[in-house]
Amino acid sequence: MAKFQCIECGSEIDTLYRDYKGGSIKISRCKVCDKVADKYVEYDPVVILLDALLLQRQAYTHLLINTKSDSPWHLALLLWICDAFSKLVLQRSELSNKGLLGEHPINYSYLGLELYLNYIIAASELLTLLATVLVVFFIKRVLHHRHISINSKLITRAVIVANLGRVLAIPALLWGQSYGQLYSVLCQGYVCLSSVQALRVVSEGNHGTLWAVLAVTLGFTTQFVVSNFLHTWLDHK
Ligand SMILES: [Zn+2]
Repeated sequence: MAKFQCIECGSEIDTLYRDYKGGSIKISRCKVCDKVADKYVEYDPVVILLDALLLQRQAYTHLLINTKSDSPWHLALLLWICDAFSKLVLQRSELSNKGLLGEHPINYSYLGLELYLNYIIAASELLTLLATVLVVFFIKRVLHHRHISINSKLITRAVIVANLGRVLAIPALLWGQSYGQLYSVLCQGYVCLSSVQALRVVSEGNHGTLWAVLAVTLGFTTQFVVSNFLHTWLDHK
């Protein structure tokens, strides 16, 4: 894969901007579509983030391909904490709806254990999704007679960045717990869409959208199965 990509048409470009003496820079134009190759170079990070939240493909190309960054795993650690927390709030609200809570004073060491277990579940869910997506992309590569390469680092980053949408569930859980379950379903749907968008960007070769949809569908199905299995297994403990 090239160093940089035009965010409008996906063509390879050598540089996003040129630095001239005297501190002025000139943003590169794409030779294929003649548009500004990456307008986000000049944008405020908040605007880029908002466009990514609105699932703009251009913003994903900027974030995943044109931005150089460290390993995405520190984002994953943060994501798991948020996810574990929202899972815990949901479980608590379900228990209190059933009237099972409130009979005993809150046991904080038990609460800590619950958070810890939810953290493990959140981590297993993301790893399952990632493994399935990588397998699908590997099959894609075999079917295309290895004319394309799979960049597992880039795919990992795409999946983790797309899953950051889960963090959106937290304010909603804190505002009101009556729609918690509904909101977590909506949130899951949103994360599915953002995963498709992110994987389209990093998918090389033809039928990128098709493979992204396939990878996300299979990924979230396996994730659902593994998550259900873990929940049942832990409930029996
Ligand atoms: Zn272009």
